[in-house]
Amino acid sequence: MNAYDNALRQLETAAKIMDLNSETLARLSNPEKINQASLPVRMDDGSLNIYQAYRVQYNSARGPYKGGIRFHPQVDLDEVKALSFWMAIKCAVVGIPMGGGKGGVIVDPKKLSQNELERLSRVWIRAFRPVIGPEKDIPAPDVYTTPQIMAWMADEFSQLEGKPSLGVVTGKPLEYGGSKGRGTSTAQGGFYVLEAAVKQLGLPEKDLKVAIQGFGNAGAVMAGLLFEAGYKIVAVADSSSAIYDAAGLDIPELMMHKEETKSVKGFKGAKEINIEELFALEVDVLVPAALENQITKDNAENIKAKILLELANGPTTPEADDILFKNKVVVVPDVLANAGGVTVSYFEWVQNLSNNYWSAEEVDAELRERMIPAWQAIWETGQKYQVNLRTAAFVTALERIDKASRARN
Ligand code: GLU
Repeated sequence: MNAYDNALRQLETAAKIMDLNSETLARLSNPEKINQASLPVRMDDGSLNIYQAYRVQYNSARGPYKGGIRFHPQVDLDEVKALSFWMAIKCAVVGIPMGGGKGGVIVDPKKLSQNELERLSRVWIRAFRPVIGPEKDIPAPDVYTTPQIMAWMADEFSQLEGKPSLGVVTGKPLEYGGSKGRGTSTAQGGFYVLEAAVKQLGLPEKDLKVAIQGFGNAGAVMAGLLFEAGYKIVAVADSSSAIYDAAGLDIPELMMHKEETKSVKGFKGAKEINIEELFALEVDVLVPAALENQITKDNAENIKAKILLELANGPTTPEADDILFKNKVVVVPDVLANAGGVTVSYFEWVQNLSNNYWSAEEVDAELRERMIPAWQAIWETGQKYQVNLRTAAFVTALERIDKASRARN
């Protein structure tokens, strides 16, 4: 299973339905530019490690490239290509004037010390400095990259430029050019879309049962928001374990447990299950918030949830999409469900460039104003073409990218 093959199949499906202009389709069938580098990093013990790194600039029809940088041992070029393409679609879905890019480093950051991580982050900027910048390509956090890493990156870029250049990356800490609400924005945007979906499908607004795969920035924040709103989170998984409690997990306590032990494993009162059992639970909402290719043709039939909210990028394969559509599971696709992250990144960039900072209330109101209309447009497109919401989101985004491409050339 290759994420990029999946992405191209999603493109093809939508292109056919909407009869996409053949030149725009050709432009979108390859990245505009692939940047690659070998990053030498001095380890604390004096040895030198070399890490493979990428920055794929997929499409800039609607504006500068935008998208995170992933530090993960399983990064590969095709994954980064897929993720960068999805960023272009995502920005168009929520109507922010940016294109799609993505970066990655093949590394297990859990094995690096803070100093080593800092050196790696700074070397990344030195390697890709010629192709990034506030008007060109603006990276951000992704899997295992943090506000601290963004601060090192913004500082390195600013030092090299010889002037403050905060708009070069987003997802920075609040003390150094970050935006209020950015840390929770991926989950917050997903929460708004979920509320709209629950209403649209006529599900009861209280006591809905939820299972979440992933307990990092997206999954754990989402668990917290849902818990506060009265949802019952019966299962949660992280990269080392999955736990289940029919009575509902106490999420604030689980967060403390994770903080102390680094895992959800062994949480009191919960039973350990495996990830396939988590996917197959009798829940109303299933939230994949980890990596790609989790819901496949081998387990899609088992899913009993009414809504599958993709906080991860690319968690569902095209074959699984077909099975879920046939079984009337409403898949709220990644390019909409997790677009709150890049939306508040865009707000952060606007604040950096104007040097004028917004209140938490302003950020939240603006986020809501992007997410709800995006949901409505995609739902209506889905009804119009009788297709799943992923294809509907692609159709909506491709129309916008196509218009920009053709206006330019
Ligand atoms: N990594 C996030 C995503 O996949 C955020 C990207 C950004 O803020 O630019 O959408």
